[in-house]
Amino acid sequence: MKLKTLSLLLAGALASVTVHSAGVSDAMIANDAQSTNDVLSWGLGTQGQRFSALKTINTGNVSKLVPAWSFSFGGEKQRGQESQPLIHNGKMFVTGSYSRIYAIDLKTGAKLWKYEHRLPEGIMPCCDVINRGAALYDNLVIFATLDAQLIALDQNTGDVVWKEKIDEYSAGYSASAAPLIAGGLLLTGVSGGEFGAIGRVEARNPKTGDLVWTRPVVEGHMGYTYDKDGNKKENGVSGTTGATWPGDLWKTGGATTWLGGTYDAKTGLAYFGTGNPAPWNSHVRKGDNLFSCSTVAIDIKTGKIKWHYQGTPNDSWDFDGANEFVTFDMDGKRVGAKADRNGFFYVNDASTGKLLNAFPFVKKITWATGIDLQTGRPKFVADNRPGDPSQAKAGENKGKTVLAAPAFLGAKNQMPMAYSPQTGLFYVPSNEWEMDIWNEPISYKRGAAYLGAGFTIKPVFNDYIGSLRAMDPKTGKMVWEIKNNAPLWGGVLTTAGNLVFWGTPEGYLKAADAKTGKELWKFQTGSGVVAPPVTWNEGGEQYIAVVSGWGGAVPLWGGEVAKKVNFLEQGGSVWVFKLPK
Ligand code: CA
Ligand code: CA
Repeated sequence: MKLKTLSLLLAGALASVTVHSAGVSDAMIANDAQSTNDVLSWGLGTQGQRFSALKTINTGNVSKLVPAWSFSFGGEKQRGQESQPLIHNGKMFVTGSYSRIYAIDLKTGAKLWKYEHRLPEGIMPCCDVINRGAALYDNLVIFATLDAQLIALDQNTGDVVWKEKIDEYSAGYSASAAPLIAGGLLLTGVSGGEFGAIGRVEARNPKTGDLVWTRPVVEGHMGYTYDKDGNKKENGVSGTTGATWPGDLWKTGGATTWLGGTYDAKTGLAYFGTGNPAPWNSHVRKGDNLFSCSTVAIDIKTGKIKWHYQGTPNDSWDFDGANEFVTFDMDGKRVGAKADRNGFFYVNDASTGKLLNAFPFVKKITWATGIDLQTGRPKFVADNRPGDPSQAKAGENKGKTVLAAPAFLGAKNQMPMAYSPQTGLFYVPSNEWEMDIWNEPISYKRGAAYLGAGFTIKPVFNDYIGSLRAMDPKTGKMVWEIKNNAPLWGGVLTTAGNLVFWGTPEGYLKAADAKTGKELWKFQTGSGVVAPPVTWNEGGEQYIAVVSGWGGAVPLWGGEVAKKVNFLEQGGSVWVFKLPK
């Protein structure tokens, strides 16, 4: 009995040693969604639910929230700030535009170190010089850069520990997603779908940056595994070469994994959304063009695709299906949900990919009348596909223009939604907009835009574009919404305090009642918020943080909408809030 007590005490002492050491372990990452004193992953847990069990701040007191500190990213470089901060060991790690990263003292808001990546001339990010955040592993903080590299820095000093090239920026590759760490692997995607880059997922040893496997998500490309000396071995072709792509188009097929992925330990699968097939002109690539505009589930142990679900086969509207796949429990089953850029909200079995439910989460969708739950395929509206430029009338160099909704910037874009197991609702930052879109002739040229399309984005309604919507994944009902004049472009956080937090381009961080949608608090951050908030507990106090800095794809690609919001000012800072003592 005594011996047992002693061994239990020893085990306890060892456990507490582990807890207090600075290194981030696999166990800590696996437990990230439950541990409220840190934020170790993009999504507050690898499932990406963005739910915190904290309720110190709740519907009764959120109106009293005040700033604790604010930190400026400084310099002359501003533009879009889409980063989610990480919290660990008394420090905040936050990335900024132009591939910068900062470590900040959590108590004081003072800068501990910064790293500014030296970017070459000629990088080709499609959608502003943004970054969405870092990953933590052991004593490292790891992030991706606009010239398609991965950088691992010492958390304490900011010194570079390893650096690896993902691909050639001169061919249009870039990287801006937060890396995902799951099962001891560093999982990353690529950006560059507007340049004919090839979407893929790579697994690396997070301590060294060495490749473990690669898995292309354009049908026809070979996957590889790597031994510890870096020798590669074939690991099977993704899909079947030539099955869903005509000719050689799969060789420059897009489907980029630009938003990164999520992971569920229960299924052992990593879920990556894939972007548009390239080029945008669908008439030249008849077929489904797998695995574009899909959710692709990869077994992280084998590096093979377990299942895929395609939202927009033979996409003609740039409906990147890159949106995050968030797993949760519904009716005793592990399922996953995705609010797709194409306007439909999908619920799939997380283990098999079987479609369980699909419904619209925006009011205007013109390209399909619905989703067939038996086949999983959209019911296309043939007339809403932009016309074939090869059929253009004499003297014209483009196909028929159509007015299509949603606009290609999506019913939802990069801004991640949140799921509350308490309310059973998803909180979806959505936008109502449409576009004139037409196709033009195009051929692939390395490092050049590869669209074959022209477009103008317009608002659908006069009084709002953005809307934060509480969606019931079972019924497909919108339980409440809060409209916003400008398009929403930041992510969402929900908490056990029955709260939802989200930011607006007009500069506000806001909080609402998660059940009713009643707005309870807002704070003006000084520039537009296009990033997801986080929360954590430190010494019994609950903190909320969000990055502020207007930019991203809307000012660059937004057509008439961009003109409507061109009064908004750029910035670059992180804000931290708490209740007064
Ligand atoms: Ca945590
Ligand atoms: Ca795209």
